[in-house]
Amino acid sequence: EIKTTGCIGICSKEPLITVEITDQEPIIYEHVNEEKARQIFHAHVKNGDILSEYAFVRGKESEIEERLKNGGEILGQQVVDNSIKAIEEVPFFNLQERIVVRNRGAVDPYKIDDYVARDGYKAVYKALKEMDSDNIIDTILESGLRGRGGAGFPTGLKWKFASKSQTADKYVICNADEGDPGAYMDRSVLEGDPHSVIEGMIIAARAINAQKGFIYCRAEYPLAVEILTKALSQARAYGLLGNNILGTNFSFDIEVYEGAGAFVCGEETALIHSIEGKRGNPRLKLPYPVEKGVFNKPTLISNVETLANIAPIVLNGSEWFAKIGTEKSKGTKVFSITGDIVNVGCVEVPIGTSIRTVIEDIAGIVEGDKNIKAVQLGGPSGGCLPVKYFDTILDYETLQQLGTIMGSGGMIVMNEDKSVVDLARFFMQFCESESCGKCIPCREGTRQMVNILNKICEGNGKKEDIDKLEDLANVVIQSSLCGLGKTASNPVLSTLNYFRNDYEALVK
Ligand code: SF4
Repeated sequence: EIKTTGCIGICSKEPLITVEITDQEPIIYEHVNEEKARQIFHAHVKNGDILSEYAFVRGKESEIEERLKNGGEILGQQVVDNSIKAIEEVPFFNLQERIVVRNRGAVDPYKIDDYVARDGYKAVYKALKEMDSDNIIDTILESGLRGRGGAGFPTGLKWKFASKSQTADKYVICNADEGDPGAYMDRSVLEGDPHSVIEGMIIAARAINAQKGFIYCRAEYPLAVEILTKALSQARAYGLLGNNILGTNFSFDIEVYEGAGAFVCGEETALIHSIEGKRGNPRLKLPYPVEKGVFNKPTLISNVETLANIAPIVLNGSEWFAKIGTEKSKGTKVFSITGDIVNVGCVEVPIGTSIRTVIEDIAGIVEGDKNIKAVQLGGPSGGCLPVKYFDTILDYETLQQLGTIMGSGGMIVMNEDKSVVDLARFFMQFCESESCGKCIPCREGTRQMVNILNKICEGNGKKEDIDKLEDLANVVIQSSLCGLGKTASNPVLSTLNYFRNDYEALVK
């Protein structure tokens, strides 16, 4: 059987072909093109039969020569050169723990049957037939799951607040407006396993008694939009969405809403305005969306990764989930890792894994004469940590104490050739152009910080410009209205904190 799957995480090696034969370890071939795909096929299949000599393909070169000498099948050196080790042998895969990306490489995102065959929608069945709203909320609360969009608010508590209101109209929104430069975890889940998110939304809706859901997905993810739309229609056809789901009196349906590309619309209140057809400007958080959200109705907003955790928790129980992670941060976190590393891609690790394990053991450092200098965590809202902190564990509190955040999970690794001042300028330019302009500290402050950073990077800065930059960064944090402005200075402040010498070396 030949089938298409979504991303399996090791993006820099794509396109990939994985060959799976019963009772054998899978083999993954990297950088495949049409010709190589043909070779791989003929290396494994002859006259419609699977070749038992397939192990030959992945053998060591010496073993291959031996086989050739003994009259073995000629499979082409090219195929051998482009194969990577079996999944179990590659640290990139075997150091990961897969909950969110549990179906990675195993399901065709266009086929609901693939998802169902891997226990898909069993949790919906359980939640609708065997649990009431309180049971579901308690399960999520006791699991310790925290929102994966950045803030890390306890998910069960949010559900509890949303369930309190007895109004007839409530909404569940999946925030799929992933906009951080360098982040593509949500995209990978949406394009590879859309039903894992839909299943989480149905359970959330059942828990708070919502009737309508939106997946707010950025329009720059056209494949995700297409796959989600198809997945929703399949779920409807299977009686998992619409009226009287699975024969119960619970009704719920979901619509995909395409965002128009504003980063700020990932902020909950801006996202609500956008769905209402208004300009996507944030507002004060009070009242909270769980009380007054979209169309002034109670609204539960969760991000893609949070929702993809829900079905396994409901199926396996809160205790199972709570055993993974640290005391305060349970479960796993998906990171998209880029920069000066070997394996650019998406990785899912237990919370509490060290930065070093992710960067050195899973992603792998590029060998050569360049040392790794720093890692930027959490995208434009996060901070830059020097290599001396690489033994730090990845969890919400620990990273916050160091002036960065886990955020949605972007990780950019830089070697000593890269300028952290330039990195800070890049993120500040991003925030300046994405600022909605509603409040002055963010609109004007980010612009002035870009001006100062331009001066410094171009060699025209003075020592006092560094102090001005720091003052302004603090003012913007303290006086901006929404999360964008409140965190926009983090890359500047963290680089000033850990790499002040780099700034000073650039000014007169
Ligand atoms: Fe808009 Fe920035 Fe103010 Fe947020 S902080 S409301 S993005 S101007």
